[in-house]
Amino acid sequence: MNKYVFVSGGVCSSLGKGVAASSLGVLLEGRGLNVRMVKCDPYINVDAGTMSPYQHGEVYVTDDGAETDLDLGNYARFTKGVLSRANSITTGQVYKSVIEKEREGRYLGRCVQVIPHITDEIKSRITAAAKEDPDTDVVIVEIGGTVGDIESIPFLEAARQMIHECGRTNALSVHLTLIPEVAGGELKTKPTQHSVKAMQEMGIQPDILICRAPALLDEATRRKIALFCNVETEAVFTSYNIPTTIYEIPLVFFDQKLDQVILKKMGVESRHVDLGSWYSMMDRFRAQIGEVRIGIVGKYMELHDAYKSVYEALFHAGLACGVRVELRKIDSTPLEDRSRVQNILEAESVDGILVPGGFGQRGINGMVNAARWARENRVPYFGICLGMQVMVIDWGRHVLGWEDADSTEFNQDTRHPVVSLLEEQEDMVNYGATMRLGKWESVVEPGTLILAAYGESRIFERHRHRYEFSNIYRQEMTGTGLKIAAFTPGEALVECIEWPDHPWGLGVQFHPEFKSKPTAAHPLFRDFIAAAKEKALARGQS
Ligand code: GLN
Repeated sequence: MNKYVFVSGGVCSSLGKGVAASSLGVLLEGRGLNVRMVKCDPYINVDAGTMSPYQHGEVYVTDDGAETDLDLGNYARFTKGVLSRANSITTGQVYKSVIEKEREGRYLGRCVQVIPHITDEIKSRITAAAKEDPDTDVVIVEIGGTVGDIESIPFLEAARQMIHECGRTNALSVHLTLIPEVAGGELKTKPTQHSVKAMQEMGIQPDILICRAPALLDEATRRKIALFCNVETEAVFTSYNIPTTIYEIPLVFFDQKLDQVILKKMGVESRHVDLGSWYSMMDRFRAQIGEVRIGIVGKYMELHDAYKSVYEALFHAGLACGVRVELRKIDSTPLEDRSRVQNILEAESVDGILVPGGFGQRGINGMVNAARWARENRVPYFGICLGMQVMVIDWGRHVLGWEDADSTEFNQDTRHPVVSLLEEQEDMVNYGATMRLGKWESVVEPGTLILAAYGESRIFERHRHRYEFSNIYRQEMTGTGLKIAAFTPGEALVECIEWPDHPWGLGVQFHPEFKSKPTAAHPLFRDFIAAAKEKALARGQS
């Protein structure tokens, strides 16, 4: 039988519930258990695909093409379990399928209600996620939102029922709260008491509390919280502010013996502990020397979460290359004015430029100008999805001299649609879906940067885009030196391009950032940062 750990949050949002749940996953994996992470999102959107990055941050894509919440990115960076469509459950999905079943007459004339029909649907989705991998030992279910939110109630009720049905050793509640500090440096436990009361009103007695606090809570405070919240003192943990990186949090919890307490409560014997890769990652963090400065040229610059996986992957690459990565977030809109490009980019003195994915016209010419600047000034450049497409547009406009070269996403009337929809391209197979989503195979060409990075010629990466390199321009592009470095099998679609005579200029149509981990940097990010480090050395910075 699987064990379940339900992670909920109280007091306020943004306490780092996703990171706490992921860190718990790391600890249980370190104990040799097979962990699966599930996110329950109370929003009514069926998936995150339709949400603006401004509102909700990045859309995380799984191998099977699900467009999910960015918390799944945390799970992927911390834990080893495979993530798929089944690992992301939203109110929208739950209601959609209950309503579809009702329309099909599958409730046999009964009145369809939140309890039991909605809660049963939630429970069956959680158990289905557990069954995706027959070797699963523990399922960690993160419940989005804050206890007391109207939207979270059906998920908490489903958790309560599962705890009741599975028994306390098979299903635990871990509750995350905030211990604020008031003037005079006093720590306040009252909001935590209220939050636990709200959980108890839902019928759930938390087994473990993780308190977000400025510093490690002392014994007396833990005892007080334990007494008022009906938990054991040894089950009160602190998630305190650390100056290093979020990736140290599993070790912070390990030092407080969170894994031992959980295993004891679950009745699981494990003497084995292996967190070696986490300790060596932290050693690499402390050993970083110097820094490289990377300019991210995009349009969602104000919200850090909009390019979350990209920023994390750059950080991982810094760990792999022994150098800190300083991010310079550069809004592409002012770069549309060509006369300002040199000044703006020069002033940032970047060692590398990364243009990430994106949709829509705004700021696009600024990205094209940034790509041109990096190409002409031999500055390492990494283009991801839209970032590769702007490389193609730059090549069309400034090497082939087609002033109106563009993607049909931005200009439908261009005479040189160098990036376009498949159905606009002649003789192309119709792949059916409107978006190329999820895992696709690419075949890498010999003598390329991408082959040097991966060290193998068949690679699998995730996609999320509609537009493609236009095959009708392949000859003109390669004839003028642009290198096509990877294709889908059979060369139907272009997956990677590289600049000739350039230290490191590469664009990929897929999203490598989704697969990078702190303990295993993605090879393309690693090599991009290595190239930027060379440049920084030349600048005398690294
Ligand atoms: N807007 C582009 C497309 O749809 C790029 C998408 C992306 O960067 N994810 O093809």
